[in-house]
Amino acid sequence: MAAPGATCVNHSSTLATDNCSRCGDFICGSCIETKDWEVFCPGCHDRVDKHTPRATTALVMGILSLNGCLFLGIPAIILGMQEMKAIDRGEAPAGGRNIAKGGMILGIVTTVIMALLILGVLVAVVAGSL
Ligand SMILES: [Zn+2]
Ligand SMILES: [Zn+2]
Repeated sequence: MAAPGATCVNHSSTLATDNCSRCGDFICGSCIETKDWEVFCPGCHDRVDKHTPRATTALVMGILSLNGCLFLGIPAIILGMQEMKAIDRGEAPAGGRNIAKGGMILGIVTTVIMALLILGVLVAVVAGSL
């Protein structure tokens, strides 16, 4: 809750009803944005909530790869890593970090499974030709 008598950072004549859980700015009722039960000012809300299509694509590829499209595992890893690097550099919104990471992890799992399958086939072929 905001301190008594504090005014909104955006509206100097309006009493603040809450403060942003990220930057701590006092905000009035019309400025409040919520996300997962946390209160944010509009500026922080934009940064927390947004993610790029690349983050979503990495996750979708990761999920599809785990559902049988094994060859999508490697692009999921690459896209996920690119997105996380972009977030570290401040070029992509931080809201995509967990999405990109999820896609990358699924991609790694699938790629390991694919590598084991290929290894298994190779072993079988080698064993069969002996
Ligand atoms: Zn804020
Ligand atoms: Zn306001």
